[in-house]
Amino acid sequence: MAATLPGWTGFGPATAAAAPPEHPNIVIIFADDLGYGDLACYGHPTIRTPNLDRMAAEGMRFTQFYAAASVCTPSRAGLMTGRYPVRSGMCGDRRRVLFPNSKGGLPASELTIAELLKARGYATAAVGKWHLGHHPQYLPTRHGFDHYFGIPYSNDMDRTKESPRGREAFLHPKSEYWRVPLIRDEEEIERAPDQTKLTRRYTEEALDFIRANRRRPFFLYFAHTFPHVPLFASEAFAGKSRRGLYGDVVEELDWSVGQVLETLRQTGLDRRTLVFFTSDNGPWLTQLEQGGSAGLLREGKGSTWEGGMREPAIAWWPGRVPAGTVCRELACTLDLLPTAVELAGGEVPKDRVIDGVSLRPLLFGEGPGLRKSFFYYRGTRLFAARLGPWKAHYITRSAYGRDKPVVHDPPALYHLENDPSEQWDVHAAHPEVIEAIQREVERHRATLVPAPSQLEQ
Ligand code: MG
Repeated sequence: MAATLPGWTGFGPATAAAAPPEHPNIVIIFADDLGYGDLACYGHPTIRTPNLDRMAAEGMRFTQFYAAASVCTPSRAGLMTGRYPVRSGMCGDRRRVLFPNSKGGLPASELTIAELLKARGYATAAVGKWHLGHHPQYLPTRHGFDHYFGIPYSNDMDRTKESPRGREAFLHPKSEYWRVPLIRDEEEIERAPDQTKLTRRYTEEALDFIRANRRRPFFLYFAHTFPHVPLFASEAFAGKSRRGLYGDVVEELDWSVGQVLETLRQTGLDRRTLVFFTSDNGPWLTQLEQGGSAGLLREGKGSTWEGGMREPAIAWWPGRVPAGTVCRELACTLDLLPTAVELAGGEVPKDRVIDGVSLRPLLFGEGPGLRKSFFYYRGTRLFAARLGPWKAHYITRSAYGRDKPVVHDPPALYHLENDPSEQWDVHAAHPEVIEAIQREVERHRATLVPAPSQLEQ
């Protein structure tokens, strides 16, 4: 907690008075397994997302925004710490995410956005999926959040013996097939909750938190359980979309986003709140019609091709983020921590490597983005690296197959702005680009200190 942060002095006493009123509230809305092509404002032809479309029309929509990893646990660790998950041990090569029988979690030594904002006097709450450790010492309440309400890991875990085998359970899902816990703060309050009501219950919790804290700055991390399988929509949305149950679920998420933005307007907080919407990883394509779409991007969840990690991302802050803008600069979830801390008037920790850079120049239209490169990890291994518009793949492998990794030497090279679908390998024509990317990778590697995997304990 704040009093024990080593080597970092960018905070005052943890009271509301520490944060002057100009420091904005920060809301991060995080979908689970939502693809680059799943929103109407990103080109989906039938799923209706009027609230996210309006959010984009009133704010900024990113076209080259990445999650920190292609699966849940490492992606969330990256967002929450501003550091590639390989630094915190929140990734693994045998186990790619935390499971109910895992012992590990986000180490106490890591600093989260919530801890840094709490130290600036912010009220903090996490609502929804956590997936950074479900044992008490790893819960949101031990990582800077005043409150937590949600399911601590994925909604397809804790499957019962009575559940149908394999994908069959996802085709006709029933909440009782998965005995996932619903937690309030640190207490399990239900087991196998009715998943058709989860989006609505999460949303009510988020709105209550906003209203209760309208007179002091707050940080709300609102991480939806869906559209991760098994898919569940409430009665009001089930059967209503043209894209089957997947579309129903995304349309309900869109409703939820609309509720958050409308509550901010009603409480007069819209001009004092940055809301950022994105997803933890790409669509789970092996779930077939229960999975989403990466649009024109190649592959999906679990893969270091673009579809696994490039995400829809929308920033909204009326009066500050220019309305109706499209940002085509490189950015990622690692950047949310430095952005939030800067807007809260603090400084990022100096005693550790922070991989994120502030999005402020982009968000306020003040100048070019600060990010020049991005590294694509699968587990602990660097599979690909991006520098400017170029991406080199050192290793490729199918998202979920049993195939062995394919090492590329020289690496496969794609120009992502000419070729967003990664179809044309042009490495032979650009050896100088491969050398420049290699130098960037070496600079990055020189900063890495191995951390034991928390996922394989
Ligand atoms: Mg996910």
